[in-house]
Amino acid sequence: MSKFWSDRVKTTKPYTYGEQPKDKKYIKLNTNENPYPVSKLAIEAMKAAVNDDLKLYPDPTCFELRSEIAAYYGVDKDEVFVGNGSDEVLAFSFMAFFNRGDKVIYPDISYSFYDVYAGLLGVESERIPLNEDFSIPVEKYKNKNIGILIANPNAPTGVCLTLSEIEDIVSSNPHSLVLVDEAYIDFGGETAISLTKKYDNLLVSQTFSKSRSLAGMRVGFAIGDKKLIEALERIKNSINSYTIDRVAIAGATASIRDVEHFEATRRLVIETRERVVPCLEKLAFTVLPSKANFIFAKHESISGQTLYEQLKHRGILVRHFAKPRIEDYLRISIGSDAEMDAFLSVLEDIVKSYK
Ligand SMILES: *Cc1c(COP(=O)(O)O)cnc(C)c1O
Repeated sequence: MSKFWSDRVKTTKPYTYGEQPKDKKYIKLNTNENPYPVSKLAIEAMKAAVNDDLKLYPDPTCFELRSEIAAYYGVDKDEVFVGNGSDEVLAFSFMAFFNRGDKVIYPDISYSFYDVYAGLLGVESERIPLNEDFSIPVEKYKNKNIGILIANPNAPTGVCLTLSEIEDIVSSNPHSLVLVDEAYIDFGGETAISLTKKYDNLLVSQTFSKSRSLAGMRVGFAIGDKKLIEALERIKNSINSYTIDRVAIAGATASIRDVEHFEATRRLVIETRERVVPCLEKLAFTVLPSKANFIFAKHESISGQTLYEQLKHRGILVRHFAKPRIEDYLRISIGSDAEMDAFLSVLEDIVKSYK
């Protein structure tokens, strides 16, 4: 605390990101990064961008990147907003669509950044409890006509709503914004982007960080009615017009074009996930049905805290949330097959030692 701090700084509760310890080399299964390399086409494009003209500002409209995203998803480029990571897209959305004192709803167990943005911007939030099985109680989101945020698949559970469930929520709330955060949609869920043509209250956000192996580049985007996109542009141009640098614009554009690499790597992640789930079940874990690049699992007798610590001790990082209802769960990112084999073998040892 310092006398120079604004009230906003004093009261904000910042996001706690996944640890990145430097004391030894860990197998990192704690931040949902993609184990597969960046598209070669994207790397070439980024190298060319470095050699090009970094002395000049980037295109503040991200025309080329937005056009490429629009073409890929079959929407108009005026229906696409690009941000510095989808976290920025989400933060700008809070500013663009909710007033101080407005109420928004989202699940009690969800991406914890929603609490942070709401707190920072004075937006009230009501957290709707997930069902016992960690599914989202769709009925409780219908006909509310207040702002709604849903991560789909949800984080950190990996549980996914169907497109028709999302449509039920969107269509029954015509007077409020529904923001669907699809950070993990490419790992088996069905995107709601098609619904943005039909509903002007739906905004869908996605990211290059997970399914496109570009977490280090910081690009995310939102698709929705062009009036929604205009609102996001107005916020962006009131804070920083150049949120996406030239290298990132080039890399992200090439990444969208490299459909083959995208399809191959996301398929590998899905296959590994499907292979690992039964192995965990054999070790007496309950595993929630996941459509993400991570799984959320709980052992029948060993606590989440103990498993987290034992794994870390043996060089494997997973994410543990010391929060009600989920304190005995671990969120395990899907790594390469070799990483997952190492993880499973260490885990088997730990589980045996507690018998
Ligand atoms: C990772 C993640 C994001 C943000 O990703 P960026 O790296 O900022 O694009 C947004 N929402 C959820 C649920 C996430 O897990």
